[in-house]
Amino acid sequence: MSRLYLDANASEPLRPEARTAAAAALDVAGNPSSVHAEGRAARRLLEEARESVAALAGLAPAAVVFTSGGTEANATALAGCAAEGRRVLAGATEHDSVLRAIPAAERIPVDRDGVIDLAALATALADPRPAAVAVMLANNETGTLQPIAEVAALCRRAAARLHVDAVQAPGRLPLGDLGALGADTVALSAHKAGGPKGAGALLLASGWWPGPLLRGGGQERGMRAGTEPLPAIAGFAAALAAAEAWRAAGGAARLRALRDAILAGLAVRVPHAVPIAMGASRLANTLCLALPGVAAATQVMALDLAGIAVSAGSACSSGKVAESHVLRAMGLGPLAGSAIRVSLPWTAPEEAPRRFLDAYAAMAARLVRPVEPAPA
Ligand code: PLP
Repeated sequence: MSRLYLDANASEPLRPEARTAAAAALDVAGNPSSVHAEGRAARRLLEEARESVAALAGLAPAAVVFTSGGTEANATALAGCAAEGRRVLAGATEHDSVLRAIPAAERIPVDRDGVIDLAALATALADPRPAAVAVMLANNETGTLQPIAEVAALCRRAAARLHVDAVQAPGRLPLGDLGALGADTVALSAHKAGGPKGAGALLLASGWWPGPLLRGGGQERGMRAGTEPLPAIAGFAAALAAAEAWRAAGGAARLRALRDAILAGLAVRVPHAVPIAMGASRLANTLCLALPGVAAATQVMALDLAGIAVSAGSACSSGKVAESHVLRAMGLGPLAGSAIRVSLPWTAPEEAPRRFLDAYAAMAARLVRPVEPAPA
């Protein structure tokens, strides 16, 4: 039986358009910074990618700075905020690349569905010292969408900068809205959109430039040193365009139907499983699911043995599964240690719900000990 990959929020499978664009760019010998014909050909490819990403986000090409991925885009924006002497306020469920970029960041609490507490943010912003706020568009573990328009309004009123991590948006939310979120900066990552790993972008949506994280050559007009990884960038631009076209043509709606079929099946077959963040608007492809009493790592391994790839918390480089800071911040208590993330990729087959439900129900029957009736 073929494998069933349900870990799109860790990495989307490569889109064919991205493969074609990246492969073509591999054969471009020139360095985009060189002035000869080969260099100019490479530069042309780079600027075409920039124009494409900018147009998709509703921004001018000059607003796109290519990076190595979402982590670097987040780090660049937040380092710039800190360099301006601003206090950094970050949602408690932000990705580690945000929370660890500025360890002193003040964490703004979220509710049980992972939605940021706007009153707490407003209180934190009432402090007259200049501030910067980092709030993600969609959470990678739960899929919870944040009320960015409200966050942006609060930031505007307090003259605070706003950075939005939109890494999980492509293919799921309209990209044309990114430039109009009301953010100063927005982070994107190629491999979350079905592009190659190793590229991303920081979108300068308000014209503010946070300053370079990496210094050296004058690439990216001095905003990010280092020879641009042309194959990854060309693949990134092609993936974003393909992801947006796929979403607009009903791709995300199809994934929502598959995801909801899993939810409906669970209610019947494993009623003691607990879906997380059900009260929030969520990404169409994402389901966070706790099986009380069974460690998340055990579930991931059991499903892996059954041919299904899911994850526990966010994938971390060491391969270890630590309890999720996201679910802890949501006040889920012990459930936080028993939750897995099911995230359907753009390639998800129609039989994904049935195969997942069969494997999950079998696992639950094996691993969940029946509750002994209390002695009479
Ligand atoms: N932000 C979010 C919400 C993510 O899910 C991830 C990856 O897991 C990142 C940032 C980091 O992106 P990258 O892997 O491109 O560095």
